[in-house]
Amino acid sequence: MCLDYERGDLSRPSVDSPGGGQSLHCTACEAALQSPGRDTVSFLLLDRLTIPLVGCAEHLEAFRSLCSLATDGSAELLEYRPAGGVRCPGCRHAPREPEQAIVPVGSGGLAILACESHQSDILDRFRTGLEVRRHLTSSLDESLTRSAIK
Ligand SMILES: [Zn+2]
Ligand SMILES: [Zn+2]
Repeated sequence: MCLDYERGDLSRPSVDSPGGGQSLHCTACEAALQSPGRDTVSFLLLDRLTIPLVGCAEHLEAFRSLCSLATDGSAELLEYRPAGGVRCPGCRHAPREPEQAIVPVGSGGLAILACESHQSDILDRFRTGLEVRRHLTSSLDESLTRSAIK
C-alpha cells in the first residue's frame, strides 16, 4: 500500500533515515509519537467510529479535514476521551505502539491506534478524502486557467 502523496515533498529521497525508518519533518508529531499517552491521544469521531489518533494538532486537523471530505456526516476531533469512551473493544485494546502504523500527513505523521478493521476503515476514508481533494483542486485549477484565458 502506498500512502505517499501531497506536494511531492514526501517523495524526496530522505538522507536522514538510514534503514528506511520513518522520517517525520514535523517535530511536534514526532514528540507526540514518542510519548503516546493520555495527554497526546486525540479522538476522531467519524460516522459511528471513534478512532484514537496520536500526532500534533496541525496534522490531526489536516487528517480530520481530509476524512471529512469522504463522509456525508461530520468528522470531529476531540482532545479528550469522548463520553462513553471507545466503543470497539478491539480499538480500546489496540497496541499503544504508534510506530507500527504511521500515516504520513503533509510533513508530519499520525499514528492510528485502532484495531485492524477500523484502521483500514479510516485509511479508506483518508484515501478517499485525498482523491476528492485532488479532484477539487484540479477542477478549481481548470476553471482558473479557463477564466485567465478569456
Ligand atoms: Zn505535525
Ligand atoms: Zn475497532
